[in-house]
Amino acid sequence: MRVLVPVLTKNAIDKKVAEVARKISDDYKGKDLVLVGILKGAFVFMSDLMRCLTVPVKLDFVCASSYGTGTTTSGNIKLTKELGLDIKGKDVLIIEDIVDTGLTLAYIIDYLESFGPASVKVCALLDKRERRKAEIKIDYSCHVVGEGFLVGYGLDYAEEYRNLPEIYHLKL
Ligand code: 5GP
Repeated sequence: MRVLVPVLTKNAIDKKVAEVARKISDDYKGKDLVLVGILKGAFVFMSDLMRCLTVPVKLDFVCASSYGTGTTTSGNIKLTKELGLDIKGKDVLIIEDIVDTGLTLAYIIDYLESFGPASVKVCALLDKRERRKAEIKIDYSCHVVGEGFLVGYGLDYAEEYRNLPEIYHLKL
């Protein structure tokens, strides 16, 4: 039987999103900011975050798949949607839903660096540190979470639960 245990309320999510958006807006004043969301999970977070920003921004997405089994990243990352915008000389901020091993982000940072941006930084909704394998600097993080598989607010399990407005620990 699947059980959903509440982890973060919509209110807690909204408060942090607004706080992080204020910091990003301060840091990127006068810069050429491009947000690059990692599909599919980051789309809800990115949609809320970008509407709290007070600086001009352009958007793009990449879609990363890691062909593993179950609930762990295999490290075999493949892009199923590549970048569309030209980011050469631009300040890029990657928007990620959750950083677990960090392997997906490490791959995407390398990929984006190859286009010659002025900077690449990372904004993550959730930072799950226990299983970290790649040393990743998360420049803007909303919530540090413990172990356990989370769903809701864009995060899925087998494509289900993305539409839930709050974040839950899924117990299988
Ligand atoms: P990493 O490469 O850091 O191990 O994993 C990053 C990706 O794995 C995330 O973008 C997300 O798609 C998925 N992931 C990692 N932990 C969770 C989790 O607790 N819940 C869900 N739904 N996806 C996760």
